[in-house]
Amino acid sequence: MIHLKGGYLVDPVNRLDGPGDLWIEGEHIVAPPSGRLAAETIDCSGCVVMAGAIDIHSHIGGGSVNTARLLLPEQHPAALWRASDTALSRIGFDVETTGRLYAEMGFTTVVEPAMMPSNGLHAHLELADIPIIDKGALVVLGNEDFLLTLLREKESRSAVRDYVSYMVESTGALGVKVINAGASAAFKANARTFSLDDEVPGHGVTSRQIVLALQQAVDELGIPHPLHIHCNNLGVPGNADTALATMEATSGRAAHFAHVQFYGYGKEGRRGFSSAAARVAEQVNRRKDVTVDVGQIMFGQTVTISSDTLRQFTARNFSRPRKWVISETDFNGSGIVPYRYSSSDFYNVVQWAVGLELFLLIDDPWRVFFTTDHPNGAPFTAYPELFALLMDRQVRSNAIAALPKRALAMTGLASIGREYTLAEIAIMTRAAPARLLGLADRGHLGRGARADIAVYRRREDKAEMFRHAAVTVKGGAIVVRDGTVIARPEGRALVVKPGAGSAISRRMERYYDTTFGLSPRFFHVDAAALGRSDPFLEVACRS
Ligand SMILES: [Zn+2]
Repeated sequence: MIHLKGGYLVDPVNRLDGPGDLWIEGEHIVAPPSGRLAAETIDCSGCVVMAGAIDIHSHIGGGSVNTARLLLPEQHPAALWRASDTALSRIGFDVETTGRLYAEMGFTTVVEPAMMPSNGLHAHLELADIPIIDKGALVVLGNEDFLLTLLREKESRSAVRDYVSYMVESTGALGVKVINAGASAAFKANARTFSLDDEVPGHGVTSRQIVLALQQAVDELGIPHPLHIHCNNLGVPGNADTALATMEATSGRAAHFAHVQFYGYGKEGRRGFSSAAARVAEQVNRRKDVTVDVGQIMFGQTVTISSDTLRQFTARNFSRPRKWVISETDFNGSGIVPYRYSSSDFYNVVQWAVGLELFLLIDDPWRVFFTTDHPNGAPFTAYPELFALLMDRQVRSNAIAALPKRALAMTGLASIGREYTLAEIAIMTRAAPARLLGLADRGHLGRGARADIAVYRRREDKAEMFRHAAVTVKGGAIVVRDGTVIARPEGRALVVKPGAGSAISRRMERYYDTTFGLSPRFFHVDAAALGRSDPFLEVACRS
């Protein structure tokens, strides 16, 4: 038994915001023992104690991430002697360092949001190699011929539902993501722009129809995490209209909108690029069934990794360094484009401000999530700096003072005085993500919860406070002490099993054999292939 003694507990789920103790036995938080002494007592005085943090959208494994690693060897630790001190080289960008750096910041669960079904096994092998943290993956659907044909032929809702269920179960997914629905298919037919009501050439279905069909299937299957939507027109000036239209279209059922910073743009001003964050935030505030993550950008070198191939094909013209990979398959393909966000670039500064405005203008901390869309907006190691910008008005105004005024004038950031509290940070990084993903066993400090816990030494400098946890506990084991990893247990993959209909699998057999000379069994991620006794942890679906 481990005793965390005399810390300041912040747990909005159990209404804890004050001094208290925690006891851990095995993998769980337990009631105070009567008369029994703990094997280990950790003095937490002067520290804030929260549940382990959960990142709902971070590209940490799977085919595209690996391609990015292969494209950018200069960003690996081994190449540090010749790399400049860029953000990516600091994070190492390899599987081992990914798990360690998350744990050092007190994160214990991370979701990879873009697993191609055809890469399922590869993604799981790679995720399994990331130590310490638990992982989940969202399977990407919405551009494949089989689904588009079901929709064009106006097949029953149950056929679509069975197909979605089949893909989720075979690939070992925690949920479903749709990326620029239909655009990858349209891209292969030479489309270079694609919006909500555009039709996929040769398929006779619109982006809107694909999104709604997937949203309905995910909801009816009882998958806890609602459809995770990457809208059309990412990065395009004026695209706030697209995000707002998609929120309107999906109204009535829960929907999650990914990295909305990249959709917070208007077309005002001489350069035709401005912040529309206030409009997006206003809509989110009104629509209680909408959740968003921000996808904050931070200045520095990064690499964009996206299965929005149509978008990445355009972005390749802005790659820094000048190299890129664009590929396409039946499902979404992938686009790897290195990029450097500059604090003197007009557009990048507006983007930075849009992200912060969204954070500060969305009222309900249960419905807005911390992401940098790692590594698209910035590496996840930028979170502590981001917390500081939101928790401390002075830090924010210092940052603003150093940026070009012409860019900031196109945003409303300077006029916002809000400062996040510790309780809000705990909601946004622990309680709310657990609820959004259906993970009842974590995100709080109640009895019976999984003992995933982060202890931070209280400091004025919030970035310093959250950069290195004093202690991180994962599944009851102390994995970090004084900001350094001392143990690296293996994490598990969180999966849902909505129950697949067998009729669809026979049909898919025929289709994949005839069309590709493959069996759909190649989507199947077999636990035995991962070489672990117990690699999956099942998350219950709503009944
Ligand atoms: Zn993403």
